[in-house]
Amino acid sequence: MIGRRAFVGGLAATVGGCAASPPSPPAEASTVVDLTHPLGPSSPYIQVRDATFPFRRAPIATIATRGVYANKWELTEHIGTHIDAPCHFAEDAPCLEAIPLDDLFAEAVVIDLRARVEANPDTELTLADLERWQKAHGPLPQRSVVLMCSGWDARWPSQERFANPDAGGVMHFPGFSRAAIEHLAARPEILGIGVDTFSIDPGRDTRYEGHRVLSAAKKWALECLANLSRLPPSGSRLFIGVPKVEGASGGPARVVAWVPHDRGPH
Ligand SMILES: [Zn+2]
Repeated sequence: MIGRRAFVGGLAATVGGCAASPPSPPAEASTVVDLTHPLGPSSPYIQVRDATFPFRRAPIATIATRGVYANKWELTEHIGTHIDAPCHFAEDAPCLEAIPLDDLFAEAVVIDLRARVEANPDTELTLADLERWQKAHGPLPQRSVVLMCSGWDARWPSQERFANPDAGGVMHFPGFSRAAIEHLAARPEILGIGVDTFSIDPGRDTRYEGHRVLSAAKKWALECLANLSRLPPSGSRLFIGVPKVEGASGGPARVVAWVPHDRGPH
């Protein structure tokens, strides 16, 4: 158990250890928001034949039989709220254990697409959206993550509604446009990007080109985020708690944000 004050102080101390333009320490008066869905056997996932499968958990010991409770897990790396390591689509890029700790603390840039998504689930976060945000809130902060808030997390944990396939099996959910990802991948102030859908590439895109561009730039991505609507457009900060698994292309993550009390949601 750790108090919020100690938690926030610890974050500030860690971030303060980074030499290159670290985010300033968070305000004392802040609310911690959990951006993580629970992960279990009924969690949705991208279904790829002969490759992916649901999260599985089975006991290796129980209190009744052995006096101790423990499970084994079987899972793919890209299930539930998770991070894509840069090595997911680029051979020479860092895998999970090699992402510097400082790069897992980020200033949040939140772009709200909810109104557009209601009318069109194939809508994309575009360069115009990035420009609109910068006009209202200033330049993209140093060491930031750009987050697409589409409201899609409300569909969790329905596999059908989260994947939203058409009659031909093509999924329909919003993501970043290729041009927006190319732009952000080239920006040194950007650590990564994140979405509340399955993929940073829109659902109907099956070539994952945005993933390739981002990986080549050695940046990470967050997918299946929850509660982004509780963050203001600017001013909140994220910590991405990732397992330090060697050679991992990604993994389930506990993603938390802290929002200064003087900032409301959208
Ligand atoms: Zn992934």
